[in-house]
Amino acid sequence: MSESKPTRKRRVFSGMQPTGEAHLGNYLGALRRWVQMQDEFECLWCIVDDHAITGGGDPKELPKKIVDLAVSFLAVGLDPAKGILFVQSDVPEHTELAWLFNAVTPVGELERMTQYKDKSAKYESVPVGLLNYPVLQAADILLYKADAVPVGEDQRQHLELTREIARKWNAVYGDLFPEPEAIIGNEGRILGLDGDAKMSKSLGNTVDILAEPDEVWARVRTAVTDPQRVRRSDPGRPAVCNVYSLHRHFSAPGVVEDVAAQCRGATRGCVDCKRILADSISATFAPMRERAAELRAHPERIRHILEDGAARARVLARETITVVRERMGLDWRSAWTR
Ligand code: SF4
Repeated sequence: MSESKPTRKRRVFSGMQPTGEAHLGNYLGALRRWVQMQDEFECLWCIVDDHAITGGGDPKELPKKIVDLAVSFLAVGLDPAKGILFVQSDVPEHTELAWLFNAVTPVGELERMTQYKDKSAKYESVPVGLLNYPVLQAADILLYKADAVPVGEDQRQHLELTREIARKWNAVYGDLFPEPEAIIGNEGRILGLDGDAKMSKSLGNTVDILAEPDEVWARVRTAVTDPQRVRRSDPGRPAVCNVYSLHRHFSAPGVVEDVAAQCRGATRGCVDCKRILADSISATFAPMRERAAELRAHPERIRHILEDGAARARVLARETITVVRERMGLDWRSAWTR
């Protein structure tokens, strides 16, 4: 009787830049999904600090932002017993592999990336890190030979480049890297409190998931609503109001129905409607705030989780980088063994 091989879970790499505590957009667009995926996949969750410095930033603030994001990851339920949680720069093989991928990555491909075009337009002198950003992303993913990557629509182009880098490298140096698939969520674009741009810390249109209820209210009360609802007596249009979209994520179904009906009937004002939303958001994250407080009271636990995660990630990273270096002729000691 032939023995059946145990099947390995598909490996997924997920990365997020350390901009401090996660916000609602991070949660809805990524973290919630990562938590759901951790039983089905072999997961690596990476705080990508090397990416965070590509456009400058304040070095004094970065360490705290890294730890705050780690606390958010753990508070929402990422379990270090189920996956590997680590900081990118603790595994220097990421930047090493990115450098080696530079050998097979055409500049033209990098220059046509939409994000590069958008971001570089803001610089007088464009840092090369901005151009190379997707090469480092390819290295992040391929270092672990990830089978899949959860990405938003805006990252799809970078993932396609990762697949191309894998193909090019394999063609020159021999098959090694799988071409990772995109796992695209169905959340769509999560708009910020301005109701216009994607939720993002740099735009100041976010609500942190671990914020205290009074902070949540202070943020939510600034949210832009249906612009046609000028007076309380004007009927509103929930379909064009971002406050309503957020209700759909955080309020109970009965509350969502009631919000829509009262809005259309002009029987509730926007301030009261936002108050209900703020309460729903605070209630959703109450258990996570508790977990975060518990973790912050024991910083040694956070440190241990990140250091242990980096050690485990490095074992996988070394395996790949050793083969890459051999195939690219960088293992000079082999001159005596051939
Ligand atoms: Fe938006 Fe609520 Fe105001 Fe309607 S009542 S416009 S859903 S904030």
